[in-house]
Amino acid sequence: MATYGLLLDFNTCIGCKACMRSCKEVNNLSGPLGQELSAENYTVVNTYKDLNYRKMCMHCLTPSCTSVCPVGALKKSELGPVTYDGNKCIGCRYCMVACPFSIPRYEWNNPRPVVRKCIMCISRIEQGKEPACAWVCPMGATRFGERDRLLDIARARLTRHPDKYVNHIYGEKEAGGTSVLMISSIAFADLGFRSTLPQEPLPDLTWTVLRKIPNIVFTAGIVVGGIWWVINRRMELDRENNGNNHKA
Ligand code: SF4
Ligand code: SF4
Ligand code: SF4
Repeated sequence: MATYGLLLDFNTCIGCKACMRSCKEVNNLSGPLGQELSAENYTVVNTYKDLNYRKMCMHCLTPSCTSVCPVGALKKSELGPVTYDGNKCIGCRYCMVACPFSIPRYEWNNPRPVVRKCIMCISRIEQGKEPACAWVCPMGATRFGERDRLLDIARARLTRHPDKYVNHIYGEKEAGGTSVLMISSIAFADLGFRSTLPQEPLPDLTWTVLRKIPNIVFTAGIVVGGIWWVINRRMELDRENNGNNHKA
């Protein structure tokens, strides 16, 4: 099965924010367009020295967020997107700690808060459509396609225009590689992207750390309901799954 992704070319982005608006529309997100990722803004477009650049979930090839989620709310699809199920999420925020790109955001204003992030419009992909942000982009600055093909396009642009791009495809190797790839005329570190991430997948490391130092998790207030709630929720989900299996 083909694995899809997005190529964000900051050099061709005009900062129109149509991607942000379409993301809000397809995900029913309220509130104004923000400058920071939030539960109401799964993607943001900002400007640095005349360069417009986007931030969103990187859809890691081997995501840390899925490996630490105790209830399986986050999942890596074979198609590429890392999805989440808000009905399963218990708001423990393990994924926020584990994500090397600091992407998941918390619904601070919701009485039953869960974590939110971009899901690469997986339902659109399953219907044979592009993610809304790629479909709406007037410049092709957000491009959808098979990850291998997007890598070829990115490499070709860097080779053809070494004067216009830094020699770095962000996401090709970071944290084991991601389904979202970025190219730019300005170094990614200067745009606020983490530039010293290891090239190996991080899930084993993050889970080992979280498991060994649970007190840090508690001290930071990351577990909202306590272990008993996790267990109860797991049992509840098991019951639901069993019920569904029986109905099937
Ligand atoms: S960027 Fe973070 S939230 Fe997105 S898939 Fe990777 S680990 Fe998960
Ligand atoms: S892929 Fe979909 S959910 Fe993700 S930023 Fe684009 S429009 Fe939003
Ligand atoms: S829609 Fe395209 S050109 Fe407009 S801000 Fe988003 S990425 Fe840039």
